[in-house]
Amino acid sequence: MASKVKLQILGFGPAAVGIFVATDRLGVLGTLLEQGVYIYEKHADVNEWNSLEYKIPSNSPIGDFLCGIRKDGVFAEVMQSPRIRQWLERRDDSICLTAISGFLKELMLCVVKAVEKSPTSRIFWSSPVSELYMHETEGFGIAREGETLMTSDSLVLATGARNRDMPELIPNAFGTISSDSVLRCREDDRIRAVIHSGCPIVIFGGSHSGFSSAGYLLSEFGAQLSEQQIHVVSKDKVVQMYSPEEVVGTELSQGDVVNPMTREINKFHGLRRDARALYRSVLEGDERRIKLYELENDDVPVADRLALNGSGTPLVINATGYEPRIPKLFDLKSKEICLDRTSSNICKDPFSGELLCGGKAIPKLYATGLGFADNGVDGAQVGINFFHNQTAQRIVENLMNIA
Ligand SMILES: Cc1cc2nc3c(=O)[nH]c(=O)nc-3n(C[C@H](O)[C@H](O)[C@H](O)COP(=O)(O)OP(=O)(O)OC[C@H]3O[C@@H](n4cnc5c(N)ncnc54)[C@H](O)[C@@H]3O)c2cc1C
Repeated sequence: MASKVKLQILGFGPAAVGIFVATDRLGVLGTLLEQGVYIYEKHADVNEWNSLEYKIPSNSPIGDFLCGIRKDGVFAEVMQSPRIRQWLERRDDSICLTAISGFLKELMLCVVKAVEKSPTSRIFWSSPVSELYMHETEGFGIAREGETLMTSDSLVLATGARNRDMPELIPNAFGTISSDSVLRCREDDRIRAVIHSGCPIVIFGGSHSGFSSAGYLLSEFGAQLSEQQIHVVSKDKVVQMYSPEEVVGTELSQGDVVNPMTREINKFHGLRRDARALYRSVLEGDERRIKLYELENDDVPVADRLALNGSGTPLVINATGYEPRIPKLFDLKSKEICLDRTSSNICKDPFSGELLCGGKAIPKLYATGLGFADNGVDGAQVGINFFHNQTAQRIVENLMNIA
């Protein structure tokens, strides 16, 4: 007989933590844990989580990572620490993402402690979930360890996203590496060798990841780079995003966005902060180690467009974006249910926040985080401030029937 809990959550990263941040804020964490929450995480423990261990400045100001977290609730120990008090005093600054990663792990540990104290809730570590089942009356089922079946009334997907694959665009390149592994400092030796040989580095992607990777190369290897050794290729015109305050006295070009929701990031649509500053300095001719290509149509092979002839075999960095990681979803007749999606995001009902299949909301199936963001006025709202606030708030209000 399957055991049944109130909620199952797949994935335990910052977005999943958001469910607890919102529950704590609304004063219903004890009730939710009592009703039963099962979390499944493919890593063996909190320390294995490393999604934001990037050696680059955060896109969001510090305040965005702290907002909406109660100081006297389940996260009190972290939020009242001297370090976080200092952070609160410089809430508009950006900070290295490795520091943010450490902070998020501390929040995760607070959730782990609270769950461990509850006899009705559990975290299953080393538990990747590849399939789940949906039934009108029984709810959501996860098959694990042979016959055991857990079911729940509601389910939240918080499994994050992975680097999109890139078609081979430049024949005979040294190979393709991901912007993700570049920003984690895992490719330093290879990059050093290419720079030393005088060959070009081609970054595909004019988004935050593309310009962050370029920024990383400049900060780590800047003195060894020669003029135009880095090529950044964007398949469209690069979009910049500004807050209304930032835009005063700035010349915008067509397609740039002014976001009335100040301070909030929207990674997949428009450059902000350091990435934007780097883009502008390339445009203005101040940063000559980067050559930028903003392509207008893709009928000419990319390799032919780049002025690489004679400059040696390039190393390619894939910064073409992310796509959601989703387990397969079946109905009880084993028919696969395909969720509505765009290239980088799963679609939701704008009112209930439930996921859509053929334009219809699937009752009580929710999602949050990278790859599962809500849609805002100018695209998917990708940021921890959203995941911990609006997105999680709506899920928790629905789950706990809070009007
Ligand atoms: C380069 C870069 C910079 C960014 N900068 C910022 C920033 O400055 N500010 C900001 O707010 N956001 C930023 N983001 C966006 C986003 O907030 C982070 O990516 C954040 O880590 C997303 O959290 P998540 O919980 O959705 O995903 P993840 O951190 O990826 O967590 C998902 C978890 O689910 C687990 N999982 C996956 N599949 C399964 C499965 N099948 N079964 C069980 N477990 C599974 C994974 O192991 C992981 O622990 C940035 C993103 C990138 C890529």
